[in-house]
Amino acid sequence: MALKNKLLLIVLDGVPYRNWRRLMGNLEGWVQSGDARVWKMRSVLPSTSACCYASMHTGVPPQVHGILANEIRFRVEEPDIFSEVTKAGGVTGAVTHSYWSEFFNRYPFDVVRDIEYDEPGPIAHGRFHTMTNYGHDNQMTPSDTDMFATLTMLTRRFGIDYGILHTVTLDSMGHRFGHDCVQMDNACYYMDSALAAFLPRWLKDGYEVIVTADHGQTDRGHHGGREDEQQDVALYYFGKGRGPEPDALLDQLQLAPTILERLGVPVPASMKAKPFLE
Ligand SMILES: [Zn+2]
Repeated sequence: MALKNKLLLIVLDGVPYRNWRRLMGNLEGWVQSGDARVWKMRSVLPSTSACCYASMHTGVPPQVHGILANEIRFRVEEPDIFSEVTKAGGVTGAVTHSYWSEFFNRYPFDVVRDIEYDEPGPIAHGRFHTMTNYGHDNQMTPSDTDMFATLTMLTRRFGIDYGILHTVTLDSMGHRFGHDCVQMDNACYYMDSALAAFLPRWLKDGYEVIVTADHGQTDRGHHGGREDEQQDVALYYFGKGRGPEPDALLDQLQLAPTILERLGVPVPASMKAKPFLE
C-alpha cells in the first residue's frame, strides 16, 4: 500500500443535523458503543449542492473555486483530494453523481464516455449517475444498496486507497416531502439500515470511514442560504485519529485536509483550514 491509511467518505446529500441524530439508529448506536465519534459540521455558503461538493474536496470556499451554483460547472483548478492522492501514488474511486466527475476529472460529462471509467486518475475508478429528468415528482436516484455494493466492489477489485460514495436519495426525498412526515422517517431508516449492512465490512477490510452530508435542509425542503438548518450536518468518524471535543463545530473546509492527513498525503498550500483529526 502506497499510503499510510485508507479511507472511505460517504456523503448522504441534504441531511440536516437533527435527522442524523434522531433517525439514524445504527450510526448513533456505534457512537454509543464507542466505535464511532460524531460532531456537527457547518457547510460553506451558498449551502448549495455543487458548491459544497467542490468545497468538500478542495478545502476552499465557493468564492475561490468558483462553483457558485448547481448551474455553474467546470473542471475546478484547485488541488483536491483525488488529485493529491493520485500524486502520492494512491488509488482513488468514486461512486457519485456526475458533477463530481465534472469538477475533478473532466467537463462536460459525456454520458457514454464517462458513465464508468478505469484510468490513471485523478479519479481512477469512477461509476457515475446523472439523474437526468430529475424533478419534484420524478426522483431518478439509484438504489443506495446498489451504490454501496458498487463502492465495495471497487475496494475489492481495485484496492482503492480513497473512495467516495455520494447519494442524493435523502435530498430528493426532502425536496419532495419535507421533513416532518412519515416518508422522511422511513427514508432515513432505510438509508441507515442499507449503510449498516456495508459499514462493518469496510471496517473489517481496514478502511477508516467518514459519513456526512454536503448541507442540511429546512422542514420545507430548502437549502442554499445561511441558517443552521440549511448548513449544519452531522459527521460520523470510524477510525483511530483523535478528534476535538464533542461540542466542537467543524468547518466544511476542514474536511479535505483532514482526509489527506489521515491518508498520509501532503496537504497542498491552498487548503488553509486546520485538520480536525490527529
Ligand atoms: Zn446537496
